[in-house]
Amino acid sequence: MKKFVIAKDKNTQRIVRIDEVEEGYSDGVCPDCGHNLIAANRNQATRKVACYFRHDRDSECSGESLVHLYAKQVLHDRKRVFVPDYTQTIFDPNDQSYLYQKLFQYSAKFISSDQAIMENSIMVDEKSRIPDVTFLGSPILHIEIHNTNKVDDDKKGFFKKLDQNCIEIHMDGYHAYLDKGESEFYEFVSKLANRQWIHFSSENKELRSAIWDSQQERKRKRCENENRKIVTHNKKEQWYKKNSLFIDRFRAFREHGIPLLREKQNAYSKYRDLDLEKKLKNSEGYFSSIISSELDHDYAFKCASYVWQWKIYSLLLNKFKESENDFFDEIYKNQSKLKFWGPEFFWNSYSTKLTVSECYRYLKDQGVIVLDLVNISESLNDGEALPLKRPKEKFLGLSLKEYELLPKPTIAIRKYLFHLCELGFLKYLHGNEFDILYREVALPYS
Ligand SMILES: [Zn+2]
Repeated sequence: MKKFVIAKDKNTQRIVRIDEVEEGYSDGVCPDCGHNLIAANRNQATRKVACYFRHDRDSECSGESLVHLYAKQVLHDRKRVFVPDYTQTIFDPNDQSYLYQKLFQYSAKFISSDQAIMENSIMVDEKSRIPDVTFLGSPILHIEIHNTNKVDDDKKGFFKKLDQNCIEIHMDGYHAYLDKGESEFYEFVSKLANRQWIHFSSENKELRSAIWDSQQERKRKRCENENRKIVTHNKKEQWYKKNSLFIDRFRAFREHGIPLLREKQNAYSKYRDLDLEKKLKNSEGYFSSIISSELDHDYAFKCASYVWQWKIYSLLLNKFKESENDFFDEIYKNQSKLKFWGPEFFWNSYSTKLTVSECYRYLKDQGVIVLDLVNISESLNDGEALPLKRPKEKFLGLSLKEYELLPKPTIAIRKYLFHLCELGFLKYLHGNEFDILYREVALPYS
């Protein structure tokens, strides 16, 4: 037969402990089967076994409800319970996008109340429930005491509709605490036992203020986005107004197609130089190798490819001749020194340079025309030739790809100077600088 440390008093309807009733106490009943529970607590001074309650007859009754009643009673008496952590995603019902979501976090804590009631029936939509204990106050907290971890969906739905706080306490593991004493059992029920939220009311001030905060934040973000959009829009419009010519030309350039453009420029008679063509032909390939047909951005020049390239080659020859005279003057003056220095001297001291920008200036002086688009983009760049690579900040609102496409005569010139390097006229130094080479093998003064 089962032994119990608690019984229900049939007069007060309260749970009593065996250690607090007098010898021969006879008001105990079992809430499950309704039979009396006898207090086995006589001769306490000399007893060998602990005192207990038992059914007044042979019985298989578990008396399980005793613990349930006792748990309700201690919470009702002390009006204090620990509620667990709670988290909830707050979102805008009109815009559930991730951008406006926020996580609300509520920290576990003790909740106390001035007034607690037991088994108070509540109705919602013609359904009723009787929570075990209810802490009145603001906000209300309902407490359900359960022997298993199972939460039924009905219960969840009910408290959600009601929108009042409800937690469920799971009684697994109560035995050790029940036997020790009332305080230990209260400690278990109020704090140590597993518990979970059945419903967290939207009326809780922490949640309300978090929702309010996130609404304010959403408003602010929307406002900022609106403002940003307006500013960007205005900037764009201003930029388009200011640069409409550039945009039109760039669009036309892209639509026109680069190969077609180059073909036209090579073929139009006004872009050609017939005398030069004849000269190149008559040289039986010697001069024609000086012209390269494989140069990026070559189309930036509004003339046949060979026209501008030949002009740079002529510039190179002129500079070479100019410096050659100076060079030999210098050599004859310092002959004794030169013998000592040896052949290395020629490469190091013969330091006439040719730069990309120098070539570009020369071509312009010589009347070589570039595309209108080049002129416009250079005037937008304070009259300077465009950098070969786009600077970090956007140039003229162009993407990296668009910028690369934008015709840049300096790229073509640079490539051409590398072509002259391959032919042995120049040696690349660094940046946009090239050294003009002296190619005589024998010492000029020997
Ligand atoms: Zn019973």
